[in-house]
Amino acid sequence: MDNAKDKGKIRLYDKTFKPFIAYDEIEKAIDRVAASVNADFKDSEDVPVLLCVLNGSILFTAELLKRLDFACEVMSIKLTSYSGTQSTGKVREVMGMSGSVEGKRVIIVEDIVDTGTTIVDLKRILQDRGASEIRVCTLLLKPDIYKKDIPLDYVGIRIPNDFIVGFGLDYDEIGRNSKDIYVLDTNMKYYILFGPPGAGKGTQASAMVEKYNLCHISTGDLLRSEIVRGTELGLQAKALIDAGELVPDEVVQGMIENQFRRVTDVSGFLLDGFPRTIAQAQALDKILDKAKEEVTAVISLMIPDEMIRERIKHRAKIEGRADDAKDETISNRIKTYHEKTEPLIDYYKASGKYHEIDGTGKIDEVRERINTLMDKF
Ligand code: AMP
Repeated sequence: MDNAKDKGKIRLYDKTFKPFIAYDEIEKAIDRVAASVNADFKDSEDVPVLLCVLNGSILFTAELLKRLDFACEVMSIKLTSYSGTQSTGKVREVMGMSGSVEGKRVIIVEDIVDTGTTIVDLKRILQDRGASEIRVCTLLLKPDIYKKDIPLDYVGIRIPNDFIVGFGLDYDEIGRNSKDIYVLDTNMKYYILFGPPGAGKGTQASAMVEKYNLCHISTGDLLRSEIVRGTELGLQAKALIDAGELVPDEVVQGMIENQFRRVTDVSGFLLDGFPRTIAQAQALDKILDKAKEEVTAVISLMIPDEMIRERIKHRAKIEGRADDAKDETISNRIKTYHEKTEPLIDYYKASGKYHEIDGTGKIDEVRERINTLMDKF
């Protein structure tokens, strides 16, 4: 896997976007568009109106305006047609125009034209208000889905039908402030590192994270950090953890969602210690489904029961975790694993995502087995 190509990604809420059009390419396109507009309007006697379609065209209008060398007015109008990443097909006039276009030539300045619904509505609005001529200038065009017959007079860059953000374009109102344009990354990986306590998940996770540019999310580590910080959640969790019980599903699910939203610049996530119940697995499926993502693979590190105890006792000496120290707690964790977590094996086998690795032997040997499997995804 080539990690270099995965760099430079950004996370906006629950989605990952990868670099698509760099700022210098955008600038060159704006230079070209401005040159055409200037050529058409340079000798005009009238004062045309540059109509900025808010909010997406703010940056494009500003950049275009700097390059125009004839007298023009600037007005703006706000319309919406997007909700999330799906075009709703309806256009509404949200904020009226900031001046009169009666008898004036108008250049509509759009960030992007896709279905063209906005342009059709806008043209009707401008005609109703007495504009003498209407031209359309757009930074981006999705030619594959633009089916309207209104001519687009000035087009900066033609792009495929992908969801993009940046340079004024948003995802649920964020991402507009990026200079470069990004495209939705539909190739994020979601790995689950599965196995009984003491199977070596934490140990193997650090190498996996490094090699495959992943974000490691360990619910156990997150809970322990809450305990160290003495938060209310930490106080509640401590009693359960010390008894070898699980903390409530909603608590860990909330933590996972927060982490998905926070992290940037990775190729995927490595979930360690989550999900631990069928309910958590179903919640994870729902969270990912909302973002049009899914679990990539479950990597299950298996060791026999007698080795679980041995490994945990060894770890107790090194890390000093309270829940590793008492025999009773260890027994209860093993019992909890068999009762609540083991059923996940069948859950993920059913979807063909379950991959088992022999977790016995030296750390390096186990790592080699994991890498051989990971290289297939
Ligand atoms: P770990 O570090 O993964 O061994 O987790 C330590 C303890 O944190 C567990 O024994 C549970 O009490 C709690 N815990 C961690 N992850 C979860 C989870 N997904 N669901 C419920 N409890 C969890």
